[in-house]
Amino acid sequence: MPVEEARYYRKWIADGYAGEMRYLTDRRAGVREDPRNLLPSAKSIICVGKLYNGPEPYSASLEDDELAWISRYAWGDDYHDVLSRGLRRLVEMLQARAGERFEWKICVDAAPLLERAYARRAGLGWIGKNTCLINQEKGSWFFLGELLVSLAIEAGSPPPDSCGTCTRCIDACPTEAIVPTNAPDGPEWAIDSRRCIAYFTIELRGPIPAGNRAQIGPHVFGCDICQDVCPWNHAAPVTSDPAFLPRHFAGNLEKLAAISESEFRDIFHNSAITRARYSGFLRNVAVAMGNQRSARFRKPLERLAQSSDPLIAEHARWALARLES
Ligand code: SF4
Ligand code: SF4
Repeated sequence: MPVEEARYYRKWIADGYAGEMRYLTDRRAGVREDPRNLLPSAKSIICVGKLYNGPEPYSASLEDDELAWISRYAWGDDYHDVLSRGLRRLVEMLQARAGERFEWKICVDAAPLLERAYARRAGLGWIGKNTCLINQEKGSWFFLGELLVSLAIEAGSPPPDSCGTCTRCIDACPTEAIVPTNAPDGPEWAIDSRRCIAYFTIELRGPIPAGNRAQIGPHVFGCDICQDVCPWNHAAPVTSDPAFLPRHFAGNLEKLAAISESEFRDIFHNSAITRARYSGFLRNVAVAMGNQRSARFRKPLERLAQSSDPLIAEHARWALARLES
């Protein structure tokens, strides 16, 4: 049940690519080595993909400089709840049909499990150079979820790697975060989180390194560029699940800069965006306004520069200086 990807994962951590994401490097890194650490009786992992793509344009094609770019996966309801509910229904179906009692455990992203490795083996897709799981018919706009069961189920088979000679994601990444691993075996490419906009705008709790702020552009939560440019996403199907209707597609930067902490909680209730926390989100909004370099953002930035939160205030001062430059 352990997979060779555990070795690649250890190297990825040793290379420092996890940045400050301690939940990836602490004792949970060891738990990831074997799914039986999550369910001792596990014999099989049922992997599912849930589409979240909508018909809205790719963020990178938005030309309105008043708008914030928010990663596609965060436009609708928090996927953890949606996928957990779906997997719970799958458990009930299995219980009705299995003909024997079995133990199970639902995992959705937060569980320490090398989920892409198992999803690949289950046949859901191959791991692209952008490190996303890509399905030949569905593209990569889908969430992964897993059901660990004590039942023995016939294994799937991984599809061929179909990136070929394409390097669009590597070429398009504004921060050169997709880096060669130079490993004699295993994947050729990895994400160095310490350079990735998704890491800066979602996971990083402190200041964004000054040298990276200009590269972040108008992103305020996550980054889709390496998926936007992927040819396998050009005809990707859209979801019909109302949970993923785009409630938070491209908000207005000036309005976002004015929200209070309680408004942040209300507006982004049941949204993955809460992971950035209020302080981090306003930090990101300040950087995005500075990067848009529009004089109309001077006043909202001056207000943010007076914030009692030093993280927000410092990024707003940086953004004001960028407006002037
Ligand atoms: S999410 Fe954005 S910054 Fe991160 S690797 Fe992809 S294109 Fe680069
Ligand atoms: S953009 Fe090209 S290289 Fe990158 S993941 Fe997609 S197919 Fe693979």
